[in-house]
Amino acid sequence: MGFNVLVVNCGSSSIKYQVVDMETKDTLASGLVDRVGIPGTVLTHKPEGKEKTVIEKDLPDHTAGMQLVLDTLVNPDYGVVKDLGEIKAVGHRVVHGGEAFAESVLITDDVKKVIRDCFDVAPLHNPPNLMGIEACESLMSNIPHIAVFDTAFHQTMPPENFMYALPYEMYEQYKVRRYGFHGTSHYYVTQRAAALLGKPIEQTKIITLHLGNGASVAAVDGGKVIDTSMGFTPLQGLVMGTRCGDIDPAVVFYIMEKLNMGPAEINNYLNKKSGALGLSGVSNDFRDIGDAADAGNARAQLTLKVYANRVKSYIGAYMAQLNGCDAIVFTAGLGENAIPIREQICANMEFLGIKMDTEKNKVRGEEVDVATDDSKVRIFVIPTNEELVIAMDTYKIASK
Ligand code: AMP
Repeated sequence: MGFNVLVVNCGSSSIKYQVVDMETKDTLASGLVDRVGIPGTVLTHKPEGKEKTVIEKDLPDHTAGMQLVLDTLVNPDYGVVKDLGEIKAVGHRVVHGGEAFAESVLITDDVKKVIRDCFDVAPLHNPPNLMGIEACESLMSNIPHIAVFDTAFHQTMPPENFMYALPYEMYEQYKVRRYGFHGTSHYYVTQRAAALLGKPIEQTKIITLHLGNGASVAAVDGGKVIDTSMGFTPLQGLVMGTRCGDIDPAVVFYIMEKLNMGPAEINNYLNKKSGALGLSGVSNDFRDIGDAADAGNARAQLTLKVYANRVKSYIGAYMAQLNGCDAIVFTAGLGENAIPIREQICANMEFLGIKMDTEKNKVRGEEVDVATDDSKVRIFVIPTNEELVIAMDTYKIASK
């Protein structure tokens, strides 16, 4: 019998899942339970090569949500396994692993304690991640559960890049430092980029741009992250859909005073109301902002320029840190699809050896080199595949 891994990614009111056959690396099914614990719960299930199935059924919590997922997976009509015995392990995406984990681990009580200890620093993500783990454990207690952390790949960062210039006790007592996120995606595209370069990963210098709803850059030297743009939380760095990215910290106190905000309100303001949404006043979706810019909306046009220039600045900074680079990689929603944004980011960087072929750049969601033949730096578009990394790590640990 084959080895199937169930990959689970739980948000506060959602469960994303995928079943991966580890012999073929094929996805057998993927799906999403939305509005868990809110009236109007919907499960959308897509078996590979078949029509999707939509089930509407109010569910009180993640355990009920996971039970519906498992019932769906064994359903004789649209399921993908005969019985749950065909699922040999579960891989859980966990956002924050603090400094404890530089790689994926088998989930134990101690691991769950670390995930719980990180609630403070990842209040939107770690509590639902743990809820998902406990729901799955209660329903599938006889198989291994593995945690794959968004922060793990960035744990190779040296202190000179992860330390903030705050009083040292902030780090010693409260672990205030840069962690970095989207690690699973940065890892996957780094591996693919090294393969496309045809070099052993140890000999590569790669800058990875994960540009999705959340966005981050990583400088990867010889397969190891040396710097990344997200920080203590996923708020730092690039301009994002609704997150401000880098700003002068003094702005925070100024806004709090002017708008009479407390800590929770300013946190919400910078995470949910800022970024491309706040700047453009149009949307947090770059497709809408692109359309508005094309129609002449000046704030939308400005937003795209601010966005592209922030990315450019990080590319320059990371080329300096890496002492050059072999390739930059575009991935995630915008990175894979936003042709004009990729063009804007790479424009006028010939001095750094970056030359885009704007004809080759007219691609969406394909793995392709869009640099000119004489560009010193390759420019890759690489669709990310975090689920495959989670499945492979899970398989490696579970089959030991
Ligand atoms: P992700 O978080 O990786 O799923 O990325 C989602 C984001 O990608 C969306 O919010 C859009 O802003 C962006 N996106 C997807 N397709 C396009 C496109 N064709 N042009 C511009 N942005 C896009």
